[in-house]
Amino acid sequence: MNPIDLATFWPGYAVVASSQHAENTLTLILEPLASELPRCGRCLEPIPLIHDRRVRDVRDRDLFDQRVQLQVPVRRVDCLSCGRVPERVDWLEPASRLTQRLRAWV
Ligand SMILES: [Zn+2]
Repeated sequence: MNPIDLATFWPGYAVVASSQHAENTLTLILEPLASELPRCGRCLEPIPLIHDRRVRDVRDRDLFDQRVQLQVPVRRVDCLSCGRVPERVDWLEPASRLTQRLRAWV
């Protein structure tokens, strides 16, 4: 039997740490995969120029009896066509604090 590979839930990111700050809340700290370039949030082209990154707190669906809280670094990129824009994250709407999986379920 294989352990659950948590990373498959958040494509483009790896789970680098987890902690339980409060009872029933599991906090997972994600890190973008170094092997993948971020994509422009507007034109979706891969962009090598990263301006900065901000960690966003995001709720995902519960895992068993645990609330799942993610800390997701979202980068801003300098796109030659679009200017400075947030990167595209397939499973997270811009500025949203809920994953699409949770939004679809609610
Ligand atoms: Zn662009």
